[in-house]
Amino acid sequence: MRFQQPDVIVVGAGIIGSSIAWRLAQHGLRVQLREAGRMGCQASSAGAGMLAPGGEVDGPSAFGDLLVESLRLYPDFVGELSSATGIQIDYHQCGAIETAASGNGWIALQARARAQAAMGVRSEVRGDHSLFYPDDAIVDPIGVLSALRLACLTLSVEILEESPVGRLDALDAAAIVLAAGAWTSSIVGAPAGIPKSFPVKGHLIGYDLLQGSFGPIRRCGHTYLLQRGNGFTVAGSTTELKGFDTSVDAAIVDQLRGRAEALYPPLKGLTPVRSWTGLRPGIDAPEPSIGRLAATRYWLAYGHYRNGILAAPATAARITAGITSSLETVSRGLPNNL
Ligand SMILES: Cc1cc2nc3c(=O)[nH]c(=O)nc-3n(C[C@H](O)[C@H](O)[C@H](O)COP(=O)(O)OP(=O)(O)OC[C@H]3O[C@@H](n4cnc5c(N)ncnc54)[C@H](O)[C@@H]3O)c2cc1C
Repeated sequence: MRFQQPDVIVVGAGIIGSSIAWRLAQHGLRVQLREAGRMGCQASSAGAGMLAPGGEVDGPSAFGDLLVESLRLYPDFVGELSSATGIQIDYHQCGAIETAASGNGWIALQARARAQAAMGVRSEVRGDHSLFYPDDAIVDPIGVLSALRLACLTLSVEILEESPVGRLDALDAAAIVLAAGAWTSSIVGAPAGIPKSFPVKGHLIGYDLLQGSFGPIRRCGHTYLLQRGNGFTVAGSTTELKGFDTSVDAAIVDQLRGRAEALYPPLKGLTPVRSWTGLRPGIDAPEPSIGRLAATRYWLAYGHYRNGILAAPATAARITAGITSSLETVSRGLPNNL
């Protein structure tokens, strides 16, 4: 099949780039989605899938607002993807319990909850030294990616896998979206001055538990546990600066296992059935870069670090609104570099 010249090229087919490609195609744009490996092969298929702004932001901020907006968009996002493709996505609003490990931690947690209330994050005291976040949810990112692939293909997005972009400045399209996660700023020809992206490795482990045996997400400090619809229970995580290395370290898996058992003692004596790693897209900036690089054809959508699964619907909505209105402006012959 021969494709026409694309209006937009999206570089990187993780959950961010794929969501953007799908939304742009819904607006009738010709979209090419370029991926170095296979669609979703990096951070996006590794992510745990917590949709939990409460554990991520300390108080009002632009990024916090994006996360809250994205959590609100999630039910429609997965619902629309499921009805477009027939793929059932494992998403449920199970809430999250966050427990403080100490008295001082509990004081800090309550202060954070008060600041978060101002941005629309609801929480309530639940038992000793714990808060319950009723709006938090979980999703299986692999289900989202499968549905995004089919939804993109249905709308004639040209998906080019095993097709790394070698030079950005050689791409020919009216708009180019940089959504290559941890790799974004190091692609040859990346515009000067964009924030540096870098990988932040994380280990995860998974147990096969009885379906429905777990309840809300549980978090304490940097340890968390959540259960997918089929009973597979994920424990995370670590924060490691090890470049692009994705190897699984048995000693780190053991430590993570101990942390998971401390948070949820019924895991004691059970052996994880899977351990894996992923590279979060870190960014040398306080927040991800989302939006147009002023007066250029480049649109930035990278640096979502620990929250790209959560932030995908809102990021796609913002980039799509920006590109569609800028291309409309061009087609009406008006300057579009404001
Ligand atoms: C251990 C762990 C746990 C996590 N848990 C959560 C969680 O619970 N909730 C949450 O919201 N987020 C979580 N995250 C974070 C989340 O996974 C990421 O923020 C998100 O997946 C980023 O998506 P992305 O599309 O920007 O990046 P990626 O998925 O990394 O996609 C970028 C893509 O660009 C491609 N690429 C690179 N270079 C090129 C090139 N030159 N040409 C073409 N393509 C290129 C790559 O191959 C890759 O597929 C977690 C991450 C990790 C590692």
